[in-house]
Amino acid sequence: MENNGKIERRDLGKTGLKLSSVGFGASPLGNVFGPISDDQAIATVSQAFNSGINFFDTSPYYGATLSETMLGKCLKALGVPRDQYIVATKCGRYNEGFDFSAERVTKSIDESLERLQLDYVDILQCHDIEFGSLDQIVNETIPALQRIKESGKTRFIGITGLPLDIYTYVLDRVPPGTIDVILSYCHFCINDSTLEDLLPYLKSKGVGVINASPLSMGLHTENGPPEWHPASDEIKAACRAAAEYCKQNGKSVSKLALQYSLSNKELSTVLVGMNSVKQVEENVAAALELEATGLDEATLSKVADILKPVKNQTWPSGIQ
Ligand code: NAD
Repeated sequence: MENNGKIERRDLGKTGLKLSSVGFGASPLGNVFGPISDDQAIATVSQAFNSGINFFDTSPYYGATLSETMLGKCLKALGVPRDQYIVATKCGRYNEGFDFSAERVTKSIDESLERLQLDYVDILQCHDIEFGSLDQIVNETIPALQRIKESGKTRFIGITGLPLDIYTYVLDRVPPGTIDVILSYCHFCINDSTLEDLLPYLKSKGVGVINASPLSMGLHTENGPPEWHPASDEIKAACRAAAEYCKQNGKSVSKLALQYSLSNKELSTVLVGMNSVKQVEENVAAALELEATGLDEATLSKVADILKPVKNQTWPSGIQ
């Protein structure tokens, strides 16, 4: 199948990049959600690209660099021109720990490019900045990323993390236009939509918004989250009940959760972690169905009732 671009493309802030509304989260390629073979990874990425997904996000942290290496193999196997896909990776978070120093992140991009078998990435993001000193991010890491941008090794730069106040802290302290994108996760889901309140501010700063983990890292799946999932038992139980309700009524909680995230078009892309052709097919179909028929409001409303006791509850992250 040709890359027919059937999935909607959305502008990413002021970057000029047009991202597919469903983005490919490559953390599962690092075995983060269970083992995946080279063949399965290549088939999954090919299926994604051939279905119109043009955005792939990874990090040296995922699977202790395995995700980057595997994504590199998969993109090479596609055998298409480099400008046909958009790649984001990160720096500052590693299997060994956090290091947001200029020296480490400057070395990190070279290591990432080698693993990805690429000359440049499209987006380089400081990974989970709430685990570092935000003043170091502002005064040292972002300037280092700007120099990397000037060198041509990345086209755009960004920051990622869980608590939403990290974004205002950093964006209020760097010159306008310095940061091109932010990546927020688990805050635009059926159980937690707190990112919504920040969208006008992010727009005013001219920042593109990548929304990750629409399934809240597995909470909104029939199989449930991985063992390492940081949510409280109360959140997990409520999400399990919501998934069970959907199943009993012949609905898919994953589809509902993805469609809910996709329905806000101010989010440039929704990054879903995928580790099989079947998941790609389901998620692409969910995006196309949403375009055609809109949200399943009746099921969404029932699920919202079930999730109400834990609505907008999150979990601690970082050292701030
Ligand atoms: P997610 O919410 O996308 O959930 C992924 C899980 O859902 C995996 O177990 C996957 O196998 C499963 N899944 C996907 N499609 C499914 C379907 N149709 N049916 C059933 N199960 C399905 O969480 P995620 O993978 O953590 O997030 C997506 C991506 O966003 C990551 O891979 C990563 O690239 C990015 N991300 C970045 C950060 C950060 O920078 N701090 C944090 C979280 C996520």
